[in-house]
Amino acid sequence: MTSPPLLLRAAALADGRRVDVRIDTGTIERVEPAGTLDATGAQVVDLDGHVLLPAPMEIHAHLDKALSADAVPNPAGDLFGAVTAWLAYRPSLTREQVEHSARTALHGYLGHGATAVRTHADLGDGIGKRALQAVLAVRDEAAARCAVQVTAFAAVPLTGAAGAANRAMLADALVAGADAVGACPGLDPDPAGCIAICLDLAAQYGVPLDLHVDEWLHPDPCTLELLADAVTATGFPYGVIAGHCVSLGMMEPDRAGKIADKVARAGIAVACLPQTNLFLQGRDHDRAVPRGLTALRTLRAAGVTVAAGGDNLQDPFQLLGRGDPLETAALLVLAGHDTPETAYDAVSAQARRAAGLPPVAVAPGSPAELLAVRAGSLREALATATAHRLVVHDGRIVARTTVTRHDPDDHPAQPDSAQIGHTA
Ligand SMILES: [Zn+2]
Repeated sequence: MTSPPLLLRAAALADGRRVDVRIDTGTIERVEPAGTLDATGAQVVDLDGHVLLPAPMEIHAHLDKALSADAVPNPAGDLFGAVTAWLAYRPSLTREQVEHSARTALHGYLGHGATAVRTHADLGDGIGKRALQAVLAVRDEAAARCAVQVTAFAAVPLTGAAGAANRAMLADALVAGADAVGACPGLDPDPAGCIAICLDLAAQYGVPLDLHVDEWLHPDPCTLELLADAVTATGFPYGVIAGHCVSLGMMEPDRAGKIADKVARAGIAVACLPQTNLFLQGRDHDRAVPRGLTALRTLRAAGVTVAAGGDNLQDPFQLLGRGDPLETAALLVLAGHDTPETAYDAVSAQARRAAGLPPVAVAPGSPAELLAVRAGSLREALATATAHRLVVHDGRIVARTTVTRHDPDDHPAQPDSAQIGHTA
């Protein structure tokens, strides 16, 4: 059954214009001044008081670990503590448990506006392919509401005789339908060898590479530079994301600039992950604790696609988070000194570009991937991050949350909600 056309009435755009937006069969057909578009035959949503944005994307999630913080304590609070706690816990995880938490987390991302999600799924000792299979199942069941991409996250090591089983499991994951190859080359005894294996395998299956890179403050060894050199040398054509790149933000500017130039030439996108970096990094500093964010300005100045994602969600790697790209963008403003516009671009246009998805705009001809937030401007949407939102994926409303304030001393409840109705 096809959905009727959708008419979004009187929304404010990020540039301040107030418009009507008509959507049909998954595409934005028309954008005209508010109150001017004919509603005949359309489902009409009154978005007066909302800012209408291109939908964000969550570029780096771990749906298989999500919402495990209470079950998996990490008293040290750092990356080593998180990895140790997680590896000890995951053998007890069933596929059904992973499916349940992944589904719950994905529901949250979607309700906040992420109509596309790139997630990692662990492979390796103690978990086998259970987490991957669970996340693939959640990807498939959510296909009509959210474009989920699953990165098979290989265990350490991938190289040498000790890595044989992990290499085989990674290849099996691609046969099972994983969308991208993932690993953590900086933790492998042979980082360059690990990168080469990942590039080979991803090229064989024609899928992108999505690596955890340099998730620490010390500047050497710099696996981001190894990765850039290898991607340039091989001409790998399927897209590469380097997540974290924390140490790049700690380097002296000349060196960081030279590496950023290599990253740009290689066409690698960098995913900044402020929540997890702020939580895990710098715990051994007793003052002026580094923020742990990558070198945002240096990378952008070199022409690198810089996306941003939420990464861990209430697990031992990051106790908090609500699965909300607006939270990620707000942290880029506060901890990365981005403008609200640049920060939102990182969680929307840049994230989609990094993931190889078509661009989205509130403009005719664009895929209808949209987020409306009850706010007067993009800045205010980041500031209040109200849950009062409406989410459109492929031209259909796929999530709607309304917030109603009750005032016991005064009037009846004030509906603080978008008005949705049909016209004949
Ligand atoms: Zn991660």
